[in-house]
Amino acid sequence: MSPIFLVAVPEASAAAIAAFHQRELIWAAGQLAALALPALLLFSGLGARLRSLSARAVGGRRVPTLILFAALYLVLAALVSGAIDWWRDMPKDVAPWLVGELAPLLARIVAAVLFLWIPFALMRRFPRIWWALAASALVPVAFLVLVALPVVVDPLTAHYEPLKDKALSATIATLAARCGVTDIPVFIGGDDDTVVGLGPTKRIFLEEDIQKNETSGQIVFTVSHELKHYVIGDNWTGLAIIAALLFAGLFLVHVIGRRAVGRFGIERPEDPAALPLYMLILTAFWLCVLPVFNWEARHIEFEADRFGLELSHQNEAAAQLFAGWIRKDGAMADYDLFFKLFRQTHPSLAERIRFANTYRPWEKGEKLVYGDICRPET
Ligand SMILES: [Zn+2]
Repeated sequence: MSPIFLVAVPEASAAAIAAFHQRELIWAAGQLAALALPALLLFSGLGARLRSLSARAVGGRRVPTLILFAALYLVLAALVSGAIDWWRDMPKDVAPWLVGELAPLLARIVAAVLFLWIPFALMRRFPRIWWALAASALVPVAFLVLVALPVVVDPLTAHYEPLKDKALSATIATLAARCGVTDIPVFIGGDDDTVVGLGPTKRIFLEEDIQKNETSGQIVFTVSHELKHYVIGDNWTGLAIIAALLFAGLFLVHVIGRRAVGRFGIERPEDPAALPLYMLILTAFWLCVLPVFNWEARHIEFEADRFGLELSHQNEAAAQLFAGWIRKDGAMADYDLFFKLFRQTHPSLAERIRFANTYRPWEKGEKLVYGDICRPET
């Protein structure tokens, strides 16, 4: 039995705490703005007037009216979120910052041109069940996006390459083999350790500088944590949650949308003037379920720590890794309630350090939670 070494929870610096609260404030402002803009357009009647102007500009044709109105809406939303991003970034170099703001706006407008007519056409053709049809159509899209993410989207934002370090590869292969996984795809790149993709594209990404930032014991723990997401297939849980949210969110749009006809200048559920109402419903719904979503994510991550400790026995390395994030990277040890409800997808670092310090069931001969999934070390 190894002597038990307890890692103390460091305290975050005053500067880190101030920066943390600033980020919380900016996030909250962004969410309030995302609610305020559609509410303003809806309740002031400005949205309905903008719809009438759009209709006049394109000769009253249905789909072009919807697209023009949606594009105007997206520009207004980008102006509001741009102001908040300016506050967050305080860019010294304005030109590249503007490009960074305009590119997603353009992408959103293109997406609206290509796809927004679909739910509105469904509302007109199938007024009772359009929401179920739209959600059913979106689930496979979400599936394809999750599958395509690591092979199409992620390589656009960072350079990934297969792990070259032979010793590290061998260590990872041994860990994975204990859990019945052969030929585990591990790539180095980006700034996060994560498991992305679904089915054939599922792979582990390790941050670019992991060998600089982590000791070998810490890397073994990190990989063991990620192996939990890989082996248990946590991304399928993610897809199931997305599917449930799509059905519930669009059902709410359906129920509230029908009752809103005749108010706020909305003439029919598929009236483009209803778009701000639908944005308001979906944003409010998302904010209401976010605490539940985060609670579930924290549970998944807590279990990944447990899995990682059971597989690697790297308790001290793990605790030191988390403590280092507080000491060196300006992370918080614990969070306030607001952050916990709306932002926190992992257990707090203080909780993770305490758990790594104390979770050693194998030393007492107790049954491991993941003992049936991964063979114990031999
Ligand atoms: Zn994780």
